[in-house]
Amino acid sequence: MTGRGWVMLGLDLKRVAAFVRGADTEDLLDRVTVYRGGMEPAALDLMEAELDRRGVTRSDIADHHITRRATAIMLPDGTAQRCHFCSRPAVVRGWGWHRLFGRVPIVPWVFACCDSHRSRPRANPDEPAGSG
Ligand SMILES: [Zn+2]
Repeated sequence: MTGRGWVMLGLDLKRVAAFVRGADTEDLLDRVTVYRGGMEPAALDLMEAELDRRGVTRSDIADHHITRRATAIMLPDGTAQRCHFCSRPAVVRGWGWHRLFGRVPIVPWVFACCDSHRSRPRANPDEPAGSG
């Protein structure tokens, strides 16, 4: 026990604050909406304050949430599934190969992709391209 009464365990607010300052607005919007269920309340406060500082209104946040929920793959816990290749919400699932060292196909795998990665030309022909 410290003399201050309580200690936040597992969340370094200085690191979170540094991340929040450098994050894209779209990333922050995703975190306070479709990823909200997986966020620490103190981190959410920092993100919402940063969005406010950037001029993003509560209405903008609500609009982003509606748009994302309409397209993202939502999980049973109420959060969105993340893209296999980035942190954006996935909008489509498809089969591909999980590869050893990125080269040797090992096992068929279901990949979830965001809007960017579903339409991006594929470096790996076994990566999913969309709904098929
Ligand atoms: Zn992606």
